[in-house]
Amino acid sequence: MVRTASKWLTAGLMSLSSAAQAFTVFACEPEWAALTRILMPQATVHVATHAAQDPHHIEARPSLIAQLRSSDLAVCTGAGLEAGWLPLLQQRAGRAAPLFEAADHVVLIDARPGAVAHPWAGDVHAEGNPHLHTDPHKLLEVSQALAEELATMRPAERAAITQRAAHFAAQWRSSITRWEQRAAALKGRRVVVQHASFAYLWRWLGMIPQVDLEPKPGMAPTPGHLQHLLNSLRSTPPSAIVLASYQDPRAGRWLQRQLQVPVPLLILPATVEETAGQEGLVKWMDTVINELSKLE
Ligand SMILES: [Zn+2]
Repeated sequence: MVRTASKWLTAGLMSLSSAAQAFTVFACEPEWAALTRILMPQATVHVATHAAQDPHHIEARPSLIAQLRSSDLAVCTGAGLEAGWLPLLQQRAGRAAPLFEAADHVVLIDARPGAVAHPWAGDVHAEGNPHLHTDPHKLLEVSQALAEELATMRPAERAAITQRAAHFAAQWRSSITRWEQRAAALKGRRVVVQHASFAYLWRWLGMIPQVDLEPKPGMAPTPGHLQHLLNSLRSTPPSAIVLASYQDPRAGRWLQRQLQVPVPLLILPATVEETAGQEGLVKWMDTVINELSKLE
């Protein structure tokens, strides 16, 4: 009898411990998937978008709806970045997984109070710029808030999560020092941008977004606007035209051809491409800084 009971108890404990390990996260963007995997390597992580995709606009595919439905937590950017698709996914999933939004845990830049998003006006980001992961200091703040969220949801794993967060923070801080040293010569460099995708990066590195290929935030470049930019850029040429990997490069290429001086066109990865390894985030920012260093 006792043996049988203890067998039951053991089986019960085993199923409890495997239940403790089963934790599923729905990440809206690859950077949050990478961070979640660093903090909780045993979690199953679904990623809704990849680096070559525009995170403002994705299709609410049935596979994403099913993934969201089966998740314990959704980790997204917030501040309206996913306004065009996440509410639809949540509605169709019919079951709302708790939502962690990175934008709730940092101070956003460039809020546009009163700005209203229209289908023809694009992504105006009234609450502030949501592309916050391109400032590594802000990404670090998010990692700490996310660790706290995961530890609260999984109290039995708190010690391990806290330890992993501290390890990540130490490694990330030393990377920040290295990047800041490497990019010191970029301070004051002027760049032509498309959308506010790297606004936090410019602010962090002291670089200047001179003009935006978008005539209004979130609006695709127009011939009239490009002609206007060309006139102003001929007198003060930029150090580079910089696009994100998911952006249409045609407007930037046109401008590059029209300028009478050679200006490089850089296409930076908008986010981490490999979310599986511990090193993905560091490698991504290494690539960004290496590309920009070509401008020195
Ligand atoms: Zn945006």
